[in-house]
Amino acid sequence: MAELAETYQKLYSRYGPQSWWPTSYGLRPWQWEVCVGAVLTQNTGWRNVERALANLAGARCLTAVDVLKIPASGLQALVRPAGYFRQKAQRLKSLAELVLAFGSVGSFLRHVTRERLLAVHGIGPETADCILLYAAGRPEFVVDAYTRRAFSRLGLLTGNESYGQIRQMFEAELPRDARLFNEYHALIVRLGKELCRKLPNCIGCPLRNSCMYGREVG
Ligand code: SF4
Repeated sequence: MAELAETYQKLYSRYGPQSWWPTSYGLRPWQWEVCVGAVLTQNTGWRNVERALANLAGARCLTAVDVLKIPASGLQALVRPAGYFRQKAQRLKSLAELVLAFGSVGSFLRHVTRERLLAVHGIGPETADCILLYAAGRPEFVVDAYTRRAFSRLGLLTGNESYGQIRQMFEAELPRDARLFNEYHALIVRLGKELCRKLPNCIGCPLRNSCMYGREVG
């Protein structure tokens, strides 16, 4: 499906490199900050995640060891701005436990399997793939609500596909390249936030000529 590569080129030409994943709160190592962000961003906006990350940094809860040491109630208070704070605090503790079972974040990222990540309660495919792609640098395509919405409007999805089917579509049609997958997902998020919102603003969208929805709205 040449459309996937063409869509990428159009987005990249418009927006350029996105430099994902953003890490600037000093959690250590930076890959751990990616893991924490990937858990916290479930069902909330990135601004709320940033408030929770700032709380963690302010409390010097910087590492997986720190997350295991802090009492659950303390961790819940720190991540509260990201919503679902009880569940997210528990997920962070479970993830920290898994990381430390490998001895270090580096070893965890080198050796953990997708299946092992998915076995952590509350870690779904999107979170697992974010960790594998953005922290471990592995070529796993991340699918999210922005992907589903934009590619349905483009006419490349029906909207009824499962997460796995969409992921498979991208991974089968694109070179299996972590840098490409990194950039593509980040560009889709940019498109989804700026133009392909719930109420899309198709005027000026770089994909409009090839978009079923965009062409229909004139
Ligand atoms: S043309 Fe409109 S509907 Fe199509 S991708 Fe762009 S913003 Fe979304």
